[in-house]
Amino acid sequence: MNPSCKIFLNLSILKEGEFVKKVELKCDRLNERGQGVGQYGRETFEIPNFLPKEVGIFSFDEDKKYQKFKLIKILKTSPMRTEVKCDVFNLCGGCQLLHMKYDDQIAFKQRIVEECFKKGKLPFKIDTIIPAKKQTAYRNKMQVAYKYREGKIVYGFYEEESHRIIHLNHCLVQSERQNEIVKYVQQIMQQLKLSPYNEDKRTGLIRFVLVREAHVTGEVMVIVVTNGDIFPSRSEFVKRLKDKFPYITTIIQNINNRKTSIILGEEERILFGKGYIEDYLLGIKFKISSKAFFQINPEQTEKLYQKVEEYASLTGTEVVVDAYSGVGTIGMVLAKKAKQVIGVESSKQAVSNASANAYENKIRNIKFYCHDATEFLKQMVKDNVGIDVLVMDPPRSGSTTEFLNAILSLKPQKVIYVSCDPTTLVRDLKVLEGAYKIENKTIVDMFVGTYHVETVVSMVLKTY
Ligand code: SAH
Repeated sequence: MNPSCKIFLNLSILKEGEFVKKVELKCDRLNERGQGVGQYGRETFEIPNFLPKEVGIFSFDEDKKYQKFKLIKILKTSPMRTEVKCDVFNLCGGCQLLHMKYDDQIAFKQRIVEECFKKGKLPFKIDTIIPAKKQTAYRNKMQVAYKYREGKIVYGFYEEESHRIIHLNHCLVQSERQNEIVKYVQQIMQQLKLSPYNEDKRTGLIRFVLVREAHVTGEVMVIVVTNGDIFPSRSEFVKRLKDKFPYITTIIQNINNRKTSIILGEEERILFGKGYIEDYLLGIKFKISSKAFFQINPEQTEKLYQKVEEYASLTGTEVVVDAYSGVGTIGMVLAKKAKQVIGVESSKQAVSNASANAYENKIRNIKFYCHDATEFLKQMVKDNVGIDVLVMDPPRSGSTTEFLNAILSLKPQKVIYVSCDPTTLVRDLKVLEGAYKIENKTIVDMFVGTYHVETVVSMVLKTY
């Protein structure tokens, strides 16, 4: 018998015509998504909310196979376990590690990254871990959908990879202000008889409400996404929201009547205020419009950028490339100590925000280009451009072999890789391995309570 599957306790509880089995399982380890892994007979199981060395009784439907193990009772509890203060833990899927003490979350993230490096036969030790001071209410953006349930309006997040809205009353990782605004919108909708959108029938008015909050200036933006241009009782809606929460600085109606899972539509109308909020990162002012990309955890983002700055150790003479530059945040932080910064980013809107932000902050030694980063770097090779430091912050899918080969041709003295996926990070570092020596690695905990991990790696060109 496999050690993690001891005995069948009870073979037959009849439920809706199906036989449900109960089984005692032991968790051997955690997978990279924080799920408990063990053996059940010859099968490997992966169960959320189950920690190493824990033993529990689970039920499962034989027909639905093992993905559907449901916890009945934990018999042996891990010292890593902590009380979960969220009503929709395991349902909404947003935070997977809330049942884990914070120190253990950090240790888990370190182990996941180190294992990826070990697998890739790269030096694996993490030098620095920057935990988050704020373990709740750290997000600066909240977005919820509204719907009817049993005649009442409810709101919540979409379940991961599904169209099901998980109803909630309060979300731990969002601020009090964000939580109270989305709750009050539900009341105003009820009072003014404004209907929530029905995805199947494509009827109803309000699809989503987004709240964006600036951590330094305290400015708050509310975006109401409607299914069409007409918004009955619009001024009354705005008045009630403003009266209740005087700290709201701008309210926007966004129109999205397309059958799509993309939240925001093209067209917008400013209902109140200036239509954007402003916030600061490391003393640099950023204009945040409804669609602008902005890191969701500003406190930790500042620490991440400071780490990049430290690793770049600029002296004022360097030409720096900020690849995958978004709204230009990293490039602008580095510009004060560089000779020149070149940013490249594929989103038109992000590039236009980046250029405007640089202009506003009077940062003149930076230029942003709207291009595919790989094509841009290949062109730099052709043009024989000399660069000293390259910072790259690609999406989860990582970069391309061609981009990395272009780095090998350009030979910047330093490469700094900011990554939100250790698997693609290691894959990409393997391409650079021959020419670059890994100097430092830091984990910055940007996404507390989730398995997501942000890693910064600095590399230096090998000298022969
Ligand atoms: N460095 C920024 C943004 C990082 S997110 C910050 O810290 O805020 C990754 C960025 O890569 C996104 O802005 C995305 O639009 C951009 N991107 C994705 N694919 C790209 C490509 N092929 N070429 C250039 N930029 C790309």
